Amino acid sequence: MEMLINGTTATAADETWIDVINPATGEFIDRVPRGSKEDVNAAVEAADTAFENWSKKTTRDRGLILYRAAELIRRDHKDLATLLTREQGKPIHESVDEVRGCANIFEYYASIAGQPAGEAVHLGKGGDCMVTRVPLGVCGAIIPWNMPVLIMGWKTGPAILAGNTLVLKPASTTPLTNLRIAGLLQEAGLPAGVLNVVTGPGETAGAALVRHPLVRKISFTGNCTTGKKIRELTKDHLKALTLELGGSDPMIVMADADIPKAVDGALRGRFYNAGQICTAVKRLYLHEKIAEEFMRLLTAKVEALAVGNGLLPETDMGPLNSREQYDRIVSTVCNVTERDEGTIHTGGSPLSDTSHKQGYFYQPTLITDVIPDAAILRNEIFGPVLPVMTVPDLNAAIREANCSAYGLGASVWTKDLAIVKQVYEEVNAGVIWINRHLTVPPEIPFGGTNESGIGRENGSKALDSYTQSKTLYLGW
Ligand code: NDP
Repeated sequence: MEMLINGTTATAADETWIDVINPATGEFIDRVPRGSKEDVNAAVEAADTAFENWSKKTTRDRGLILYRAAELIRRDHKDLATLLTREQGKPIHESVDEVRGCANIFEYYASIAGQPAGEAVHLGKGGDCMVTRVPLGVCGAIIPWNMPVLIMGWKTGPAILAGNTLVLKPASTTPLTNLRIAGLLQEAGLPAGVLNVVTGPGETAGAALVRHPLVRKISFTGNCTTGKKIRELTKDHLKALTLELGGSDPMIVMADADIPKAVDGALRGRFYNAGQICTAVKRLYLHEKIAEEFMRLLTAKVEALAVGNGLLPETDMGPLNSREQYDRIVSTVCNVTERDEGTIHTGGSPLSDTSHKQGYFYQPTLITDVIPDAAILRNEIFGPVLPVMTVPDLNAAIREANCSAYGLGASVWTKDLAIVKQVYEEVNAGVIWINRHLTVPPEIPFGGTNESGIGRENGSKALDSYTQSKTLYLGW
């Protein structure tokens, strides 16, 4: 597997490689070039050359290519999902969902290709103005390893539909499925140079892409610290920036909630993708009247989760994606007990030393008796560990929900519209779910406030972030 620059496969200039390893088994899957600054320059130049023709095509023509790519993704979804599970670790049914999710995104953007963009402004004697939306030029997309296929769709779909060209840098642990999908876009008719993929380390290849003067916009998803570094790196060239940096989503369950449904919501919300989702449920607040029953049901379901190799059909939860993520979770939970910040209610141990010798497996874990300023409430936990707190009323739940530097998502589980209204108005988040969590269909804008980032992806408004207005002023 190699990089894709200007429609042809390319190997790294310095001939070194990054090995891609299955996190469930330690098995070597493939290797990709360790792309350098020169490779990034070549990719940006290819994208710049392709821009003129691509930006002149009609949005309908560009949308048709996205439609065809979606069809090809559906045709190959089993192979793509298997590859995704092998490099990322998630259960195969989650990989199938993610791959289909990418096809849905391409179809969604194709479907809005013909919608009018821009406006006419009549100024009476002052004249008339025509305001159109024009593409930005070459854009850069930096992809994380947790949902690499879906996030590739979120960035690639609107960027190329709007007439931009793109250089995409996948995460170093999960580049393979991204490369395959880039190949399918090519098969669908995407001209050479419109989408270029440079594999390589974030610190070098990623940073070179961010710094490149011809790149007009960077869309990044990942760690908050990296996001802030990227913001610094873009300053010299005043690039447009979308930063999706994670969250610490609260889930609030009120006394009138449908408890079995909310239990399933918490289970999926926290343990899907082994908890490695920016908008996973990261703090659970239970009304004291239902806390005992809720915990009895949730504990039974958490303890029944089958943890194992994602390729096995019986697996509910796969490994963490890398040694680094695994070590972070191990030390997070050790700190809880060492600092007396909570009680391990269930789980709390690595599985790799026992049944799964090679993989980065960790037990699904619930933590109770959490002290108010515990580190697990302040920091984002990117793994299968859920702190559970009891609250006496809605005001207390909202107060605690807002005690986070993040503001990505939040959910409340209730049948009471007055509660819905108060949570919507008072909880600080980019999306508030009622009686569900995690679901992000292509139609809705996605992104957060404060430390969760800048800008929105997904939905029709994402096209705005890949275009700028241009005005024709008719003085008559
Ligand atoms: P990073 O932010 O380091 O990685 C995300 C992407 O950015 C990867 O493609 C990475 O490349 C690239 N990158 C890294 N450094 C730079 C840089 N200086 N310039 C440009 N690109 C760069 O995330 P981590 O892998 O370290 O994940 C750590 C934590 O980040 C998680 O525990 C979680 O808290 C958060 N996270 C949040 C996600 C979300 O969806 N919001 C997704 C993933 C992580 P490379 O892979 O080569 O390092």
